[in-house]
Amino acid sequence: MEDLAKLLRDHGLKATRLRLMILKILMGSRKSFSVPELGSRFRYQEDRVTIYRVLGDFHSHGLIERFVDIDGIGRYIYHPECSALHPHFRCRNCGTVQGLPELPESYMATMRDCLVEDAVLLFSGTCNDCLRRASDKAINRVP
Ligand SMILES: [Zn+2]
Ligand SMILES: [Zn+2]
Repeated sequence: MEDLAKLLRDHGLKATRLRLMILKILMGSRKSFSVPELGSRFRYQEDRVTIYRVLGDFHSHGLIERFVDIDGIGRYIYHPECSALHPHFRCRNCGTVQGLPELPESYMATMRDCLVEDAVLLFSGTCNDCLRRASDKAINRVP
């Protein structure tokens, strides 16, 4: 927990109990979370607005990433290995989110004179693990 508190402080955030709890959930998973999904992890239903605010703080301080899923729901993910703007691949089956390579400099340069405020860069489908599990099952079913 002490490392988490340091991580928060390094991002200019005070280590409150709820921030630590939410960060721990995000760090312990390769999945992304929507506000309701995160809220359901708490035994005593934390106020959704409070959770939303914590995630917003994390995001604006560069601690986590946010993307909008194809169903229009905002999702948050802890992806420390990714820095520059990059697309994501989200598995519809298991919910795992993969960070894809960042966009080439030449591509980003075409927007040099613009103020980019949002980027919805999402691939959606079935991940390799899930595909393999499905085909293993299909093989086992053969009489
Ligand atoms: Zn999957
Ligand atoms: Zn990412």
